[in-house]
Amino acid sequence: MNKLITTVYKNSPVWFQNLIISGYGYLIYKKRYGRLYREKLTEFLSRDYTSLEFEKQRQFSEFVRFLDFTVQNSKFYKKLYSDIDLSKISSVDDISILPVVTKELLRANIDEVYTISEKEGIASYTGGTTGKALKVLFTKEDYQIRMAYLDAFKKRLGIDPFKVKKATFSGRSLIYKKNTKIFWRYNFIYKQRLYSTFHISETNMPYYLEDLNVFKPEVLNGFVSAIFELAGYIKRHNITLKFQPQAIFTTSETLLPMHRELIEEVFGCKVYDQYASAEGAPFITECASGNLHYNLDTGIIETDENDNMIVTSFTTKGTPLIRYNIGDQIIFKEGVCPCGSSHPLVASIKGRKVDYLLSSNKLKISLSHLADVIKGNPNSVIKMQFIQDEVESLKVLLVVDRNSYCKDHEEKIMTELRYRFGANMQIELQLVEDIPKESSGKYSLIKNNLKN
Ligand SMILES: [Zn+2]
Repeated sequence: MNKLITTVYKNSPVWFQNLIISGYGYLIYKKRYGRLYREKLTEFLSRDYTSLEFEKQRQFSEFVRFLDFTVQNSKFYKKLYSDIDLSKISSVDDISILPVVTKELLRANIDEVYTISEKEGIASYTGGTTGKALKVLFTKEDYQIRMAYLDAFKKRLGIDPFKVKKATFSGRSLIYKKNTKIFWRYNFIYKQRLYSTFHISETNMPYYLEDLNVFKPEVLNGFVSAIFELAGYIKRHNITLKFQPQAIFTTSETLLPMHRELIEEVFGCKVYDQYASAEGAPFITECASGNLHYNLDTGIIETDENDNMIVTSFTTKGTPLIRYNIGDQIIFKEGVCPCGSSHPLVASIKGRKVDYLLSSNKLKISLSHLADVIKGNPNSVIKMQFIQDEVESLKVLLVVDRNSYCKDHEEKIMTELRYRFGANMQIELQLVEDIPKESSGKYSLIKNNLKN
């Protein structure tokens, strides 16, 4: 939103804000769902992913076209490849003759990476752990193609993104008024209720649930942490939902087995995960058989010796990504999926550096290790956050039900933590009223403040 509209929005009553959101929604709608979108959606839906050989051929020809475009239009890549004989590339594997581009390199040269001006494109900002955001420009065409790809993924799972009522939990700032109990806005053009993730807390949760029970969404989508928190509250308080969604689509954060189990149990429907970073990485989507597939028709994903994802994404013509180290980690797995798609299977997408802590003997304690601690928690524990500022010490913030939390519970948690972090780790448990959200609207389980 531009500054003027934001100011008007901030000072308007809720009904008028809904109107602004819907008007703004209409503009986005036109940007996202034009003629190209419709053509591409039909094309993607007609694709049959059964032949690996065919998929690899298509991937190679798309790559060649994309590489060609990039060298013609991006000064940065033209210079970067000036000493490389690109005609030697005769298969996807030959991509390895090109250098890997790090985030720092991309950031430092971003103006020469762009192939379009901001006016011509659509800007997207990537959150960085360092706090420095990177601005990525998409061409309008690529934006529509990406939307079509995501919608085809949903349609294949039996969800029509236009027809269903959607409850979205994202990091958008919607609520500016203090002392309000209305933490959502409605985009009636897209049948979408936008819920603020910044205001999700034990105190506000009843209002969210009351509204969800009235709205009765058919699809939930958004941040893993927000939907997980909602599910946890519903379970702890034995709340009866007056709706059953058809599907839940999570994005933006690592979906752990503990998240999936609880969310599926509470909402009584399947969770589908997807990976598509703000930079515009190739898609990784979950199929009806519950497997994550690396979608060969959207780009190339390689891994280095540390499982870092190196991505080349065909829908990044505005800010080309070729062999870009995106900062996430990925583990592939062997096997054939019963869904029929020949696209390679992904065992897990592991998080970034911020997603692990160090034990006293410097072993990595990952999100999954901590998930086990949380799973074993007494019911009195509502929420936790693990903060590490120094290698020798760990601070754990706890939101607990003070009526039932007791010494025994504290000891149980300490035992579990000592087991993982080592006996020499100084562990401090700190009871707090709530755990603040990040500026992105996400709630992070781990805060790794260690300096390298
Ligand atoms: Zn599958």
